[in-house]
Amino acid sequence: MDLCRADKVLLAGGAALATSAALFGASTGGLGVPAAAFAAILADGIFRPSSSTFYPTLSRGPRARAQVALTFDDGPDAEVTPRVLDTLNEYGARATFFMIGRHLERAMSIGTRVVAEGHEIGNHSWAHSYLQNFYSVRSLLGDIERTESLIRTLTRSAAVPLYRAPVGLKSPRLARAAHARSLRIVAWSVHSRDTLDSNPKRVAERVLAKIRPGDIVLLHDGHQNAGAHRHSGADSLPLILQGLRARGLQAVTVSELIAPERSRTRCENG
Ligand SMILES: [Zn+2]
Repeated sequence: MDLCRADKVLLAGGAALATSAALFGASTGGLGVPAAAFAAILADGIFRPSSSTFYPTLSRGPRARAQVALTFDDGPDAEVTPRVLDTLNEYGARATFFMIGRHLERAMSIGTRVVAEGHEIGNHSWAHSYLQNFYSVRSLLGDIERTESLIRTLTRSAAVPLYRAPVGLKSPRLARAAHARSLRIVAWSVHSRDTLDSNPKRVAERVLAKIRPGDIVLLHDGHQNAGAHRHSGADSLPLILQGLRARGLQAVTVSELIAPERSRTRCENG
């Protein structure tokens, strides 16, 4: 039987509760305390974006190389994404865009530009629904595959795009769907809070105060609601890239950040 990590956690938790109840009885000590501990583990697995409780989740790359990955979520956006691309070009930086499928469908020309300019596109679900953790595994797979097929049209690659869960939430069902698709789930190690702060200087300072080699930074070039825009990430980007340059940190895609040293050397040698 091919069990994903989420199934193993749930089975182990259930077995531990049954054993405890058998040994100590269904009292507060026998059932209540272990049940509370198990609930805390489940909550951590679902609500902490970088948690690997249910599924291996990447939140940063190696610390040894002078590289970081800037990631932009919830686009593409007709107003904001082109500005982000212009700034990245100006500084010779690359980034990863975790796109919402239903936004990408309406802006494929922006997706084409993102790929042509050497950036990476990741899958940020089709609908970006807060309810997706209540979907069946089959519905989740449909949502994931729908966006994947659009991304493949642009990249002309059979590779499975990186995946970032909406709001970073990972239910056991999403873990099962990810396991079935062999997804690589990517979270972040630095949150810019650009969705809560309209001051670009403050957003950039927040990122630059925390950032170290290997970090993955969360920014936004889009909004989950059609017609709404988020400018704070794009406005802070020149300041962030100036700060990275001053520290000798190169902005690369997530796949470049996590590529093993050997394959990188081979690539660089042609
Ligand atoms: Zn999002």
